Amino acid sequence: MASHAHDHEQCISEALGSAERVCAQRGARLTPLRKRVLELIWESHEAMKAYDLLDRLGQEGGSAKPPTVYRALDFLLAQGLVHRIESENAYVGCRHPERTHEFQLLICDGCRHVEEIAVSGVTEALGKHAKKQGFTVTSQTVEIHGQCPSCRDSA
Ligand SMILES: [Zn+2]
Ligand SMILES: [Zn+2]
Repeated sequence: MASHAHDHEQCISEALGSAERVCAQRGARLTPLRKRVLELIWESHEAMKAYDLLDRLGQEGGSAKPPTVYRALDFLLAQGLVHRIESENAYVGCRHPERTHEFQLLICDGCRHVEEIAVSGVTEALGKHAKKQGFTVTSQTVEIHGQCPSCRDSA
């Protein structure tokens, strides 16, 4: 996975650092479990499913039950610390939790690597077209499936 190579330790510590900052500013409680779930999601840039999280927490000797993990995920979503990948029923960490933002996700079907991109105007353009159809948008996710550069190169 050469093209995904980067200082991932730094990635994780930056993500956890900004999560703590954002929660402190908002008076939201980043409990040890919520923080651990976030840390597990950030272990890679791959889509992480809830049952994988449960597995991992179980291996660590925790006794986290599914509802507890789902509540932790709801909290992380509400704070914008993770994004939900609807087409995968999975989660990925967000690098910009301090502000709400439009985003699109590039999802590799080979290695499950997820890259968040921010092409401006997409949300607005789709919203405008929906409105022309008399359609009121309540939620919108743009998920693009395909092959990342390292999977393509190794194919
Ligand atoms: Zn994001
Ligand atoms: Zn890939």
